[in-house]
Amino acid sequence: MKQGLMRVLLCVPLLGGVIAPAAWAADLPPLVSIENEVLRISLAQNDASITVTDKRLGLDWRQQVASGFRVVSPSINRPGDSIAAEIAGPGGPYALTLTMNPDCPHGFDAVLDLPGRKYTTPPAYPFPFAAPADDWFYVQNTTGEGMLMPLAKAADIKERYEFSGGQPWWGLTDLKRGMSARLNTFRSQAARTNVYAVPLRMHYDFFEDGGYQRLAKTYREQFLRSHPEMKKLSERVPARPAVASLKDAVYVYLWGASPDEDLNLVREMKAAGVERGIAVCYGRHEIDRALFDGIKDVDWVAGMYKMPTGNLFQVSRRRGWPADLLLGKVAPERFLASSNLAGWDRVCAKHLLPEWTEKAKGFIGDYGTQLFYFDTMVVQLAPCLHLDHPSTIEENQQARLQIMRATRDLGMLVGSGEGNSPTWALPELDFFEGLMSIRTYIDTPLSIPGGDYAKDLGDSEQEHVSLDETRRIPLYQLAFHDYVGSTWVWRDTNYQSAQFAWKKELFNVLYGTMPMWHIDRQLWDLHKKDMLASYQRIHAVRARIGFAEMTDHGWLTPDRSVQFTDWNNGDRIVVNFGDTPFTPNGKQPLPGRSFAVEGSK
Ligand SMILES: [Zn+2]
Repeated sequence: MKQGLMRVLLCVPLLGGVIAPAAWAADLPPLVSIENEVLRISLAQNDASITVTDKRLGLDWRQQVASGFRVVSPSINRPGDSIAAEIAGPGGPYALTLTMNPDCPHGFDAVLDLPGRKYTTPPAYPFPFAAPADDWFYVQNTTGEGMLMPLAKAADIKERYEFSGGQPWWGLTDLKRGMSARLNTFRSQAARTNVYAVPLRMHYDFFEDGGYQRLAKTYREQFLRSHPEMKKLSERVPARPAVASLKDAVYVYLWGASPDEDLNLVREMKAAGVERGIAVCYGRHEIDRALFDGIKDVDWVAGMYKMPTGNLFQVSRRRGWPADLLLGKVAPERFLASSNLAGWDRVCAKHLLPEWTEKAKGFIGDYGTQLFYFDTMVVQLAPCLHLDHPSTIEENQQARLQIMRATRDLGMLVGSGEGNSPTWALPELDFFEGLMSIRTYIDTPLSIPGGDYAKDLGDSEQEHVSLDETRRIPLYQLAFHDYVGSTWVWRDTNYQSAQFAWKKELFNVLYGTMPMWHIDRQLWDLHKKDMLASYQRIHAVRARIGFAEMTDHGWLTPDRSVQFTDWNNGDRIVVNFGDTPFTPNGKQPLPGRSFAVEGSK
């Protein structure tokens, strides 16, 4: 596509580059447009809405217009392949620039500035695009995995059109065609308040073929292009052998009463057939070298739960204070004066980097640690106001990446999560805990893990929402399965609802992800038969595709009870979530609540 094919079309007379409001006020809404051979993008002056015409389909994408917006006409200009306009309306004024790029003829960039502002809550403008018909779906990235929500039941959709999920994009599809909107600039999801850095840089894509799978792959391609240094999990193993465990191990939190009990449990699990395990100690008891040596002796990985960065409440009990600071709802001087000064040292990643690196070396030297799990490190971002080491929230994020990088440079396997799996952390992380959850919709009522399943979630709403195969889709796995390990959250592990353990297992199988168990003496004795059988089923699949790229996902029955994933090694995993056998043409029936691997080798 050549730059010359793009041109600006103005549907109203131009007077020295200035459009006189009187020229159009009484007539049909005048448009200013740019186009290439695929798309025409038009900005309506009377309501500031954007219409995208997909010439391949003859389809007009219109927006859900809110009232009170208009283009302030004198600011429209025509630099050739872009439209710049000042928009008046609620929350404004806004400065909008729409640009077509020859490298992406089926999309455009949008830059939204709010003059005088550095951060904003999700703005009312630009409007979201509307689905062309009622039977379309909203494609959503939750805190972890994806959701496919019918727009016919739009009221069920939470945080619609916000960039609040682990991946900062949303989309629309009828499973054949689609569009997506992506945020490329900084966002903070602290305390459930979404804050975006200003100006917002967004990108919109329009697809004539391909459903949510295509949208996920598009995000993957764009992300990997902008992070060329990222290595696949399989490529990280030579430098850090412990990464290999992410392919096919079970993630185990040890809750024994002593190091001896933990070690005996690991040895028993190994002897019983749990060949590959990651054992993580939360710190219920002191760990010792013998425990970690013993774990490594059976070829498991020995890991520690740590919080190098502390909880935001250590600075202030005011909920959501980082968002309040960013949005100017509290004066920095006043907030600093009322804060716990020592608390800043615990949340300021820049300040903590040298201290943590020394600590990590100590843990590695003392215990032979192979893995660190950094609880909430990717969640609790904040600016730092401490006069000795001030930093912006963006610098805080960068420093968190540096903490992860420094820890990996020490040879460690590094994970984080527990609440969110933001893609900004992907370049320096090996796994996300909780990526399998969908906290945007529901969060486990259980508090800090008791280490047991005594508070069995039972037949809870939690499990019905989290494990709803008719709505959940593997958007994260389609994008990054070969780049990041993922598991359930520790408040909702594989056996947290005994009656749904079979279903969590089938999702691990279908998505090629890691099961998670809590183990102490009583729990192992109680569940070992079920756990061992489950481990062996999941392991048989993950040993094949644990580090592979998920190339496709879909369903084989209209009720979506039978689903498949395809992998770049040629394997297809078919899972039957239903209770009755699935009988495909010319193939063996697949019993209810089971799976099959259709391998190429
Ligand atoms: Zn600081």
